[in-house]
Amino acid sequence: MRELKNLDWNNIGFQYRPCDKRYVAEYKDGAWGEGYLSDDPEVRINECAGILQYCQECFEGLKAYETANGEIVCFRPDLNAERMADSAEFLCMPPFPKERFLEALKETVTANLGFVPPYGSGASLYVRPYMFASGPVIGVKPSHEYIFRMIVMPVGPYFKGGAKPVALMVSDFDRAAPHGTGHIKAGLNYAMSMHAHEIAAHAGYAENLFLDPAERKYVEETGGANFYFISADGKTLVTPKSSSILPSITRRSILYVAEHMLGLKVEERKVELAELSDFSECGLCGTAAVISPVGEIDDHGRKIVFGKGMAEPGPVTTKLYDTLTGIQLGTIPAPEGWIFKVA
Ligand SMILES: *Cc1c(COP(=O)(O)O)cnc(C)c1O
Repeated sequence: MRELKNLDWNNIGFQYRPCDKRYVAEYKDGAWGEGYLSDDPEVRINECAGILQYCQECFEGLKAYETANGEIVCFRPDLNAERMADSAEFLCMPPFPKERFLEALKETVTANLGFVPPYGSGASLYVRPYMFASGPVIGVKPSHEYIFRMIVMPVGPYFKGGAKPVALMVSDFDRAAPHGTGHIKAGLNYAMSMHAHEIAAHAGYAENLFLDPAERKYVEETGGANFYFISADGKTLVTPKSSSILPSITRRSILYVAEHMLGLKVEERKVELAELSDFSECGLCGTAAVISPVGEIDDHGRKIVFGKGMAEPGPVTTKLYDTLTGIQLGTIPAPEGWIFKVA
């Protein structure tokens, strides 16, 4: 039996909280050094480090859960390892080897077992792997030194008391440039989105809907989650296809669940803003909330309402949410290879 930390598991919220151990590995002289667990939540780097000057950084986000039968597991972390390597390569950083990513995950979560929220609390252990240029640069070029860290923190369910529909607004800003960095998970994309997010938040919206930056005609994603839509007859799930959105692991899993477990037709294609009113349901997908139902979208005063709007999530959304979280918590059998046992 693991010894749980004395925390108020039902009221954890979504915030930084230092745990006992974090995994650290350093890249120097052309190679990744041996990783180790550290007690130190502080990072000391040179004042001219590449991350501070030119924002050379990428990250990941995943969760560890306690399942119904008491195992500690992660959901498809091999895909996080792969995506992080892709992000790193695009930013001219040495990828952290995928097998080592999975070993680091096991080590870090195991070293913080007391922080993994108990089954049934709705909370989970959020895992944030990230790497950044630590070596000094002043001329614009990739650094010679990097630090990979994996930190963890317990977080509460994104929505207390079940998934409630959110309202979005169509942004006048773009999240990523055409042929830019929209497809990688980098902090720089989030720095870009904060101005637009503040505007949406002040106007009372949960998130922005970003349009494709080239034509401003197609739906891309929000600042941190992909979209799916359900056709009027409830039989088809559609997700936007674009080279400037982040390939969400939750969205890829939803496509599989919809097609192979719920018997829906699935389509990955360009989705026009103008056709949104044809859909009966809309949802956001990402690790943090798994699925957030979207009740309505404000397009400059024109309201697009899905199903019962802000009153309650639609039936397909509810089924998708229940199936996906059931797989994660071990109450519904998972497709081969989706569940990674940590302890
Ligand atoms: C992380 C992220 C998502 C969600 O991806 P998941 O793998 O499902 O967590 C979606 N959009 C952006 C921009 C992201 O950074």
